[in-house]
Amino acid sequence: MSGDAADGGRGLRAFQSQIERIYLERDRARGWERTFAWFIEEVGEMARALHRGNDADIEEEMIDVAAWLVTLASLRGVDLERAAAKYAAGCPRCRSTPCACPGA
Ligand SMILES: [Zn+2]
Repeated sequence: MSGDAADGGRGLRAFQSQIERIYLERDRARGWERTFAWFIEEVGEMARALHRGNDADIEEEMIDVAAWLVTLASLRGVDLERAAAKYAAGCPRCRSTPCACPGA
């Protein structure tokens, strides 16, 4: 996939690299446990936006949740673009796109 920050890509890897450049040093000092608490706080803000916000509020809260998830991934050594390969061939269980799992 494209998306390496070095090529100016905008894929998941580029996003993770950008969040690392902005926050990783501070996030490392905070540790993953407290970072996870911030992530949950952001999920709560996203929930409020989904229930009561407008489209711009929802967009803003969703990308904040994504940024905190990416930070957690970096702190725990997860390359999210590599992890996303799990879905590259469709649903990991039935291998279909769209998913054809019964009862899903
Ligand atoms: Zn499926």
